[in-house]
Amino acid sequence: MGGVEMKVLSHLPAVHALKEDVRFAELKTTLCISEQVLTEWLNDQIDVIRYKIINNELTHEGLTREMLINLIFERLEEKTESFKQDNLQRVINATGVVLHTNLGRARLSGRAIEQINSIASSYSTLEYDVETGGRGSRHDLVEAYLKQLTGAEAAMVVNNNAAAVYIVLKAIAAGGEVIVSRGELVEIGGSFRISEIMRESQAELVEVGTTNKTHVNDYVNHVTEDTALFMKVHKSNFKVIGFTEEVDTEDLVTVAKESGIPIYEDLGSGTLFDFEMKKIGAEPTVQEKVKSGIDIISFSGDKLLGGPQSGVIVGKKTFIDKLKKHQLARVLRVDKFTLAGLEATLKSYLKGEEQEEIPTIRDIIASKETVLNKANEFIKKMELRGTGFNCDVEADVSKVGGGTMPEVEIDTYVVNVYHTVYNSSDIAEKLRLFEVPVIVRVKNEAVILDFRTVEDDELDSVVEAFSSMED
Ligand SMILES: *Cc1c(COP(=O)(O)O)cnc(C)c1O
Repeated sequence: MGGVEMKVLSHLPAVHALKEDVRFAELKTTLCISEQVLTEWLNDQIDVIRYKIINNELTHEGLTREMLINLIFERLEEKTESFKQDNLQRVINATGVVLHTNLGRARLSGRAIEQINSIASSYSTLEYDVETGGRGSRHDLVEAYLKQLTGAEAAMVVNNNAAAVYIVLKAIAAGGEVIVSRGELVEIGGSFRISEIMRESQAELVEVGTTNKTHVNDYVNHVTEDTALFMKVHKSNFKVIGFTEEVDTEDLVTVAKESGIPIYEDLGSGTLFDFEMKKIGAEPTVQEKVKSGIDIISFSGDKLLGGPQSGVIVGKKTFIDKLKKHQLARVLRVDKFTLAGLEATLKSYLKGEEQEEIPTIRDIIASKETVLNKANEFIKKMELRGTGFNCDVEADVSKVGGGTMPEVEIDTYVVNVYHTVYNSSDIAEKLRLFEVPVIVRVKNEAVILDFRTVEDDELDSVVEAFSSMED
């Protein structure tokens, strides 16, 4: 360290001196934060400045004690500013991607939110039977609904579908072999691989067939006395095209029955609503899958179902009972908020009101005219503001997202927004950093907004985000 650094370092005030500064007291009262926490943050900022001095990043002869104090308080103010904003905050999704995994997948229905609210703010019958006054089971809260909706003999719910895959493999196949087609050894979301989860569960993976073709005989020929399970993985997040052949789970059911080996399908998105009926994709419903005789089926609660994060497992009672009794059932169990939200979501289906009530379904099936209306409403509001932005409407497509129905394109209309001065990535960044961040697509000069995933009552906030850039 040279003389200049030493000199600057000697100006660095001690924490107790800085705490006397009026700015410290002001921050403490405006934030309503404890003195201890604020002192720790202050210490952190002093450390950063000291580090900068030692590393020659903050060294010039004229740097006074006063300037260092100002620097430290500027940093402390930035820190407290970011504390005011929650880390997990709501955003407006103007990408048109309905199940955006990074943006939290499914939005819940009003009914589900009300139910979560009510259960969160009081005690509940989570594991209590009001009739007997004794202990109840949380498994019972949604099982009857799931049975009714899917036609399955039994059902249970765990933390997410990855957890469902894990508990099924562990409880049914640990120590044995699981036959899976090579074409289905998928990776989901960059961190969940069927082959890895298999290793974790201590079941031995037996890969059969090739990447593009697997025949029924590939399964049959690999059955040994150690075979514990046939597993099918629904290709929800990719599509093999061209010269391909895949064994329908239905054909495999026959083989499974003959050999007495259970069959499990990881359905991934798993829908109770028939999107094909609305000419969207060709996703089989859970009910159809159950009917085909598959022993165990699992799927996510927050993909096409449109509920809270969870993993739903339905199937034959003997297997579900085994899962419920396994130690992992406790490890992977869901909390009361999930169950409250899931029960309310399932009730929308039972009442036949899923198309109106469940945002995921409503948004996926919304017509392009519905989206156009919202787009026009937005443009009108922008014009009234008289901003320097220009908007034009264009036909485009929305995606379902969440690794679901990857090849499906839903007709939509988007609004391209340009500015005379700002380029599109600047605009996108400013929108992201607005109080309520607005997430958009960027293409060339324009930012693109697809109002399929924006609620009517969010339009003003989007307009606000744009016009704030010109203040
Ligand atoms: C999404 C998906 C999973 C993981 O589900 P989570 O609910 O995100 O844990 C597992 N398998 C398949 C086929 C999927 O599509």
